[in-house]
Amino acid sequence: MLEAEGWERLSTSSLRPLTSNLQRPLSHRRRPEPIFTAMASAHEPPQIPRVYPAREREVAGPPRDFASELNSEQAAAATHGEGPLLIIAGAGTGKTRTLVYRVAHLIDRGVAPERILLLTFTRRAAHEMLSRAERLVGSASTRVQGGTFHATGHRLLRQFGKEAGLPSDFSIMDQGDAEDLMQLARANLGFGKQEKRFPKKESLHYIYSRHLNTEHAIEAILESEFPQFVEYTREIVRIFAEYTSRKAERNLVDYDDLLLFWALMLEQSPSLADRITGLYDHVLVDEYQDTNLLQARILRGMCRAHANITVVGDDAQSIYSFRGASFRNILDFPKQFVNTKIVTLEQNYRSTQPILDSTNTLISRALERFTKQLWTQRGGAEPPWLVTCRDEQAQTRFTVDRILELHEHGTALREIAVLVRAGYMSADLEIELTNRKIPFEKWGGIKFLEAAHVKDVLAFLRVLENPRDEVSWYRILMLMPGIGDVTARAMMESMADRSWDPDAFSHFVPPPRARDAHKELAALLRRLRGARRGENADAGDASVGEDMDEIRALYDAVLAERYDRPEPRLADLDQLRVIAAGYPSRSAFLAAIALEPPQSTQDLGHGGYEEDDALVISTVHSAKGKEWDAVFVIWAVDGWFPSSRSLGDEDQLEEERRLMYVAMTRARNHLAVTYPLNVYATRRGQDYSIDQLSRFIDRGVREKMQRVVPQEPAAPGAAAPVPAPPDQGPAIDLRALLRGRFGG
Ligand code: ATP
Ligand code: MG
Repeated sequence: MLEAEGWERLSTSSLRPLTSNLQRPLSHRRRPEPIFTAMASAHEPPQIPRVYPAREREVAGPPRDFASELNSEQAAAATHGEGPLLIIAGAGTGKTRTLVYRVAHLIDRGVAPERILLLTFTRRAAHEMLSRAERLVGSASTRVQGGTFHATGHRLLRQFGKEAGLPSDFSIMDQGDAEDLMQLARANLGFGKQEKRFPKKESLHYIYSRHLNTEHAIEAILESEFPQFVEYTREIVRIFAEYTSRKAERNLVDYDDLLLFWALMLEQSPSLADRITGLYDHVLVDEYQDTNLLQARILRGMCRAHANITVVGDDAQSIYSFRGASFRNILDFPKQFVNTKIVTLEQNYRSTQPILDSTNTLISRALERFTKQLWTQRGGAEPPWLVTCRDEQAQTRFTVDRILELHEHGTALREIAVLVRAGYMSADLEIELTNRKIPFEKWGGIKFLEAAHVKDVLAFLRVLENPRDEVSWYRILMLMPGIGDVTARAMMESMADRSWDPDAFSHFVPPPRARDAHKELAALLRRLRGARRGENADAGDASVGEDMDEIRALYDAVLAERYDRPEPRLADLDQLRVIAAGYPSRSAFLAAIALEPPQSTQDLGHGGYEEDDALVISTVHSAKGKEWDAVFVIWAVDGWFPSSRSLGDEDQLEEERRLMYVAMTRARNHLAVTYPLNVYATRRGQDYSIDQLSRFIDRGVREKMQRVVPQEPAAPGAAAPVPAPPDQGPAIDLRALLRGRFGG
């Protein structure tokens, strides 16, 4: 459960402050007391400042009869008295809504809001829930203590840590800092100089964190996830000891400590435990299926005295086991808390019946499941679409066309989401949206073009295109083993002296340490340029994909050296290659991706989109708990979703199925699942492979869906390449023509 805050969506532009309800008419506002009294001058006797009381905010007509907004099971849960309560129910049945009403009910019943602790998966979720509660009971709800486990642990450690040997001025390390400290510990002990490969700092940190969050033995974690490092178990344990004492020496606290120290204060010191648990009368937790053992321990500790704990969740939506979460937590809850009242909900309020029919069928195949079939009164509407596309470009085209169609019919962009199994799968779509000036936000992953390794590869292409591009030169040079800042600068100076002529780099005489790197890089650059020389200076222009292969012959090794698990990054680069190959030339490709710096897509005031109206592209993990009017689940290809890494492991495959369930249950009215038939797989030594629809969309599920085949814009059979005359580029530009249809 690392970097819980970091998992939050990159953009918080739609985050409304808690105190956003300023809509009430002016006449309702009382004239406020003066806010500032004049400061006393040095000669005046000190004045006792008058305290200016905050005014209760008026909010429009709260419904006092909560029950009328909830069904009877929801109402029973919301108004439950004391003691443990478990709401375990499927997607969209109103669990989160019930929790909001329960907070409101508790306040209404006289529980002091600051004595309610609401734990959510992201800070944003807590904000959203509390601003909904505000509509029910007014501003008192803003005093509820809401946030993530990590943020709450942080607050408590600042308050009580001193009494547990932790000076209260500790600093928090983010994940990057923690990895660096792990690196220091490793270097200090002299590990990593072996002939054989030793775990890198990221892996060490991952193993450490996983051990703390799951309570699995270090050796067991190594055996199952890093068998190549089992022989280093003793060294790894020593590094962890060193890491821990370094943290202590420097008064540093990492994310895991925020949970662990909280648990330890509750478990090891009765007096501290009494004071901490004495802060809250009620503890409520959303998305409980994604908590881990450490969090369960914390909750047991927090509720020892009163057992006023409410947790809500859905075992069928447990999707964070890779971070140490366990859906056993929710199934075992009644064992942990005696006399738990269990509430199940089966009416779904989110999706139309045809969408539910498909998701019910999908999840009915799960091997283990507590929650039941869902039903809804939202009938009518058409079945979800299953869209077969020729290839990725066709998938992108369909998705964008359909988004524009929905938008033209009145759906705001922010009511539309495209969900992907992994961040890189939206690369082509992101570029197309950028080109068409359709604003989007990306949740749960950095935008593709901002990823460091993507930028690295692009830097090579950029210096080929523009030998004076110093930023890209510096980036490349710093990648090369043996070249550091001083050498890099000297190299760039010497190239500048030679007016950046394309061969300037080869002429540089490197210091001995950098000799190999220089030779290798010079050879690569020569090869890349050589391919373009010869009789026809432009003949090589069509081969930007091939350029990338050459670059990767060098760069993949750099990547593999940096990360123990370079695979997802390599997959990004595969994707980049496929995209690049779709452009007529290197310069066209570079120009296309440089069109809009990614963050500015949200600032676009033109194009007829309302301010703030941006489509959401999200990983399924980051879409948890959310809903949209229209949802696209793209790349429903076996090996992509489920991911190929899960195929050999039954538990992981089951988690992938739940992930697909989470994805499809986000839709209210429109759902489209798309998959390309031809997946260009350049690194598998072939042009493309014919791929299979995700195994989760089996026959039974397909029967609940509407098959859709997008019409191809170009006539089939016209694909034979007609060489364009040199210097003039292609006769027409299909992408530009298509773009023109939408005024781009
Ligand atoms: P998830 O499992 O995805 O987290 P959930 O069970 O938390 O879903 P909510 O997000 O609380 O479900 O509710 C889904 C939608 O249904 C929301 O738009 C919510 O406002 C609506 N809803 C829930 N219960 C009712 C109800 N009794 N009357 C009207 N609308 C409801
Ligand atoms: Mg919810």
